[in-house]
Amino acid sequence: MQLPDHFAFSQHNLQDYVDCPRRFYLRYLLRQDWPAVESQPIQEQERLIELGQRFHLLVQQYFAGLPLSALEATIDEPELLTWWQAFLALGLQNLPGIKKSEIQYAIPFAGSRLLAKYDLIVANPAEKSYTIYDWKTSQHPPQEKWLTGRLQTRVYPFVLSTLQATQPGFTPEQIKMIYWYPAAPDQLVEFAYSQQKFAADEHSLAQLIHEIRALDESGFSLTEDERKCKFCRYRSLCNRGTLAGNLLDQSVSAEDLDAAFEIDFDQLDIGQE
Ligand code: SF4
Repeated sequence: MQLPDHFAFSQHNLQDYVDCPRRFYLRYLLRQDWPAVESQPIQEQERLIELGQRFHLLVQQYFAGLPLSALEATIDEPELLTWWQAFLALGLQNLPGIKKSEIQYAIPFAGSRLLAKYDLIVANPAEKSYTIYDWKTSQHPPQEKWLTGRLQTRVYPFVLSTLQATQPGFTPEQIKMIYWYPAAPDQLVEFAYSQQKFAADEHSLAQLIHEIRALDESGFSLTEDERKCKFCRYRSLCNRGTLAGNLLDQSVSAEDLDAAFEIDFDQLDIGQE
């Protein structure tokens, strides 16, 4: 399959492919717009997206050095204020080392480009450590098992390891990744990286990319797991129902909701390219 010019693989589009090859095809190759709302109530969906976007922007501006008072003057929602206060209480600004927020890196990989956009990287030269932080503005507490299986948990440390590989003495063990949920501020989820994980990721990510590149149009099949269709914008194109899933439906698991509403902040243009 001919990929569009300048196409780059990322944790988001690879995750879409793994979740449903058809979704990858419709979204990234056909660039199909939004034929259906993803969820009901639509106002709640929009509110959550906006809240997450505003939180990411606040943190980005904070690390860019904007005055705290100016940032806090923009916070007009109690939920956002709670998240913000929890973020400040983490004390990340006081950590030693170089901090890069909303930074995007890309590497040539498997005949394509593989990119990662990081919420925050703290590089500590004294300890020779690199800590990747990712903010998850979910309404649910962290689901460690779910995070373990996400492409993001592999792509982010893999890209950073590849970039650091030319540094004398570097090993992937110097990298760790931390997911932080402002709605559950005490439950940080940390993943250590290693040479073994790096080798496994190098192999599996290359295999995935080669598989996608080798498919023709008919190979992008519809997922057999119809739970994934419930909150998918392409339901009507796939004859997978017309009713949007309900965000407030108690029978939907936290994992399914988080997967459905993981916001692709790369698409929201809040950071540098
Ligand atoms: S509606 Fe279902 S089959 Fe169609 S793209 Fe979405 S997840 Fe895939």
